Amino acid sequence: MQLKDPSLLRQQAYLNGAWSDADNGETHAVTNPATGEQIGTIPNMGTAETRRAIEAANAAWPAWRKKSAKERAVVLRKWYELILENADDLALLMTTEQGKPLAESKGEVQYGASFIEWFAEEGKRVAGETLASPWPDRRLVVTKEPIGVCAAITPWNFPIAMITRKAGPALAAGCPMVLKPAEATPFSALALAALAERAGIPPGVFSVITGSPREIGEEMCRNPIVRKLTFTGSTGVGRILMQQCAPTIKKLSLELGGNAPFIVFDDADLDAAVEGAIASKYRNAGQTCVCANRLYVQDGVYEAFAEKFAAAVGKLKVGNGVEQGVTQGPLIDEKAVQKVEQHVADALSKGGRLLLGGKRHALGHSFFEPTVIADANDQMQVAGEETFGPLAPLFRFKTDEEALALANNTEFGLASYFYSRDIGRIWRVAEGLESGMVGVNTGLISNEVAPFGGVKQSGLGREGSSYGMDDYLVVKYICLGGI
Ligand code: ADP
Repeated sequence: MQLKDPSLLRQQAYLNGAWSDADNGETHAVTNPATGEQIGTIPNMGTAETRRAIEAANAAWPAWRKKSAKERAVVLRKWYELILENADDLALLMTTEQGKPLAESKGEVQYGASFIEWFAEEGKRVAGETLASPWPDRRLVVTKEPIGVCAAITPWNFPIAMITRKAGPALAAGCPMVLKPAEATPFSALALAALAERAGIPPGVFSVITGSPREIGEEMCRNPIVRKLTFTGSTGVGRILMQQCAPTIKKLSLELGGNAPFIVFDDADLDAAVEGAIASKYRNAGQTCVCANRLYVQDGVYEAFAEKFAAAVGKLKVGNGVEQGVTQGPLIDEKAVQKVEQHVADALSKGGRLLLGGKRHALGHSFFEPTVIADANDQMQVAGEETFGPLAPLFRFKTDEEALALANNTEFGLASYFYSRDIGRIWRVAEGLESGMVGVNTGLISNEVAPFGGVKQSGLGREGSSYGMDDYLVVKYICLGGI
């Protein structure tokens, strides 16, 4: 890996403004999923270091919250500019540790940076209100304040964007943050910390701790100084964190698993639907929480869609993400490959018809063939569980009511998508889908301006948009009497 600025590859954690090793001196190796080669090591920190980072954040909090929103915005703007200036290095680091194609990594750097820019601006627009008083001698005022020290736990599928959409609003609101990035992708997070340091974000305001997820997570949940925990990851871990936060009643933002339906109605523009389905299903090798997991296609267009879709999927190019023209990299690890294999075997044993792929890719490591399975049914594992890999199961349906019932038959409710050109149907289906986000005639919906988040067991809270700012603020009511 040839970085223009090699100092962006940091192999130490960033704790209270200092680059630090673990107390016990232990490290943990990080490997490139496309080659199996070791990229470097990170400190294996635990409870004690996490507690110190939290205490440092608490000490840094008063000065940071006292700054005006504009003063904080100036520093955040600098951070944003440094991220863009170093976009090539950040993208290369990301592809090397995460595997996604370089073009996707470059896209994520821009997308990730956009949250810092957006929230730096949004911080200036935090406003309270005055209420009509029921008493003649008292005035009622509502103000908004930063919630306090925040802890963040982020996943490996978007190594930069999942951090910036938490750190952006937290810091803009006047809250310090302690972050634990995923073990598989710490270098993107540490490079962000290096740029935060260069931007002039004060020591303690943004710390990055690497190491034992269980120990760090437990301390973040149990420590009473932490007022809010924000997490993106699996529903299973989200549940554990929620339980661990119960004794100290922390505010929680949870972006958890999805099981997105992607519905193609018989009046859809089929070519557009194929394009949208590929973007939604195969981006990041199917490893996003808003990836289409179940494709429902109406009877009349089922075979035509299946044929066009399989032909288009067949054109995807699998390989090391740094190579020109590659559109699908490796999966994150062996466990991820096993899950896809399991879903494929299960679907085929229950009547699925393999149209494409279905096995590990000849490149070895954690590469998997882009896979399409027709004749899927609701007895299959893919109907109920997120595959998080490049497998598209095609289900058949007849009526709109049936499509909605199938789509909503899941405990998840993050994203859903559908293609139709009938305006009445568009409103009925968009309103009928039980999900936090709906893409109509598009497979890509995320941006910094819109509220990202789920309903049901897909989580709590919203990220991005002005709603994403509210998650880091608390409301205070002031009653001024004696007038
Ligand atoms: P996925 O592997 O699907 O991204 P996870 O929920 O396993 O989802 O991981 C997301 C993040 O949660 C990672 O940073 C991981 O280290 C962290 N994590 C996993 N288990 C725990 C735990 N018991 N406590 C705290 N964090 C955890």
